[in-house]
Amino acid sequence: MATEGCARQALAGAKHAVFWSDRAEAPAPAPPLQGPITADLTVIGGGFTGLWAAVQALEERPGLRVAVLESERCGFGASSRNGGFCDASLTHGLRNSLSHWPEETKLLTRLGSENLDGIAASVGRYEIAADFRRAAEIGVATEGWHLEEIAMELAIHLDAGDDVELLTADEMRARLNSPTYLGGLIRHNDMSLLDPARLAWGLRSTAEALGATVYEHSPATDITKRGLALEVGTPGGVVVAPRVVMATNAYPGPMRRPRRYVIPVYDHVLVTEPLTTAQLASIGWQGREGVGDASNQFHYYRLTDDNRVLWGGYDATYHFNNGLDPRHDQSDRTHGLLAAHFFETFPQLEGVRFTHSWGGPIGTTSNFTATWGTAHDGRLVWVAGYTGLGVGASRFGARVALDLVFGQATERTELKMIRNKPFPFPPEPLRWSVVQLTRKAIQRTDRNAGRRGLWLRTLDRFGVGFDS
Ligand SMILES: Cc1cc2nc3c(=O)[nH]c(=O)nc-3n(C[C@H](O)[C@H](O)[C@H](O)COP(=O)(O)OP(=O)(O)OC[C@H]3O[C@@H](n4cnc5c(N)ncnc54)[C@H](O)[C@@H]3O)c2cc1C
Repeated sequence: MATEGCARQALAGAKHAVFWSDRAEAPAPAPPLQGPITADLTVIGGGFTGLWAAVQALEERPGLRVAVLESERCGFGASSRNGGFCDASLTHGLRNSLSHWPEETKLLTRLGSENLDGIAASVGRYEIAADFRRAAEIGVATEGWHLEEIAMELAIHLDAGDDVELLTADEMRARLNSPTYLGGLIRHNDMSLLDPARLAWGLRSTAEALGATVYEHSPATDITKRGLALEVGTPGGVVVAPRVVMATNAYPGPMRRPRRYVIPVYDHVLVTEPLTTAQLASIGWQGREGVGDASNQFHYYRLTDDNRVLWGGYDATYHFNNGLDPRHDQSDRTHGLLAAHFFETFPQLEGVRFTHSWGGPIGTTSNFTATWGTAHDGRLVWVAGYTGLGVGASRFGARVALDLVFGQATERTELKMIRNKPFPFPPEPLRWSVVQLTRKAIQRTDRNAGRRGLWLRTLDRFGVGFDS
C-alpha cells in the first residue's frame, strides 16, 4: 500500500491525547490555592523547571516554605509532552555551544554532565519510576549530504572527548533497519532516555515529601510588590513571599518581559501500539537507542518501555502573536506527514497503528538555549527557552534560577550564556513574518542538499536562528 494510504489507516483510531500522561497511574490533582498564604519562595509553573526548583531549594535549605503554583496539572506543558530524550547538553548541542560560547564550552560541557548525573542520582535517591536509563543516541543520514554533516559532528565530538563513532549504512541497518539509512553517528556518552510524565509526577511527589506545597489549577495572574515581599495573585488567593521563581517556559505567565526572547513553537508527536515480537525483530533496535535524522527539519524517535515507537518532530509551527491554544495540539496535516514519514522509514511496519497523537509548545530563543532574567530588584527570577533540549537542561535552569534569586555568585552565574540575553525576537507583525521566512529558508536548505541560502547565512552571522 502507498505510504499515504498506510498512514491514513494507521492514524484512523489514534486518540488525541498525550501518551505519557494518558495513564491510570496519573496522581490525583493537588487542591487549588484558597485564601492568602505566606511562603519563603513562590514557584510559578509546575513543569520540570518549577519542580526541580522546588526540589533543589528544599535539598539545599530544608524547612524552607515553598509554594508551587501550577495553572493546570504538574507536567501539563512541554514536560509531559516531549520525546523523553534527556541529553547532558545545556546548549542545544555541542555545535551550538561552540558557535556561541567557544571559550565556555568546556565548562558548559562539564556542568551538563554533572547535571545529568544529578538527575540520575535524584531519580535513584527518591525512587522515581521514570524508566530513566543511559542510552546511546544515533544521528542517522538519510540523504547524501547528511554524511558530510555527521562527519563534521564526529570531528567536534571527538575533539570534545566524546565516545562517538561513525556507522556505515550496513552497520546502521544492523542496529536499526531502514532502507532509507546511508550511515549514522552514534554517541555512547551523556545521553539518557526517560518517561517524562512519570518524571514530572515523581518530582511533584518528591517536592511535596521534602515539604513544598503544590497548588494545581492555580494560575498566577499578577505580581505586586508589597514592601520587601512579592504578592502573587491567583483566582483563589495570593501567596506572599520574598522570592519568586517563574518557570512558565513557552507560556506567558504573569510577566511580559520573557516574551521578547521566547516564542512558543508547536512540535508534534505520534506513538504506535506496542510492537509484536515479530514487528520489533523486523527492525532490530536491540540497543534501544534514541534516534534522530540529520535534516534541519528532523525526526526523533525511540522505543517506550512497552515497545511502542514514539515518532515526532519535523514540522515546527509558530502561531501569530505567540499563539497558544489547545486546538494547536492537533494538526491533521503534520500528524499525516509524520505518519507517512514513519512508513517510508519502516515499510516493514505496514499495518501498525498509532494509538496517540499530540503536540505541544516548545519555548524557543534565537540562540536555542535557555535565558534567565530578573525583576523587582532580583527578588523575581524567570527562566525559559530551552528550545527542543530542555528535559535535562531544565534542572540546570532551575539551579541557576535559585543561585540568582538567593543572590549566590557561583561559577554558573558567571557564565556568559547566563549573563547575556539572546537576540530578542521583533514585535508582531514582523515576528510572524521573520519566523515564516526563516522556516521556508530551512525547508529550502533541506531540499538543496544542506546549502544555506542568503537569509540563513545572514542570520548565522548575527548568531540568531529558529529551531525546535
Ligand atoms: C512535543 C515536544 C517534544 C519535546 N521533546 C524533547 C526531548 O525529547 N528532549 C528534550 O530535552 N526536550 C524536549 N522538549 C522540550 C522540553 O520538554 C522542555 O524544554 C521542558 O519540558 C521545559 O520544562 P519547563 O518546566 O520549563 O516548561 P513546561 O513543562 O512547559 O512547564 C511550564 C508550566 O507552567 C505552567 N504555567 C503556565 N502559565 C502559568 C501561570 N500563569 N501560573 C502557573 N503556572 C503556569 C504550565 O501549565 C506548565 O505546566 C520537547 C517539547 C515538546 C513540546
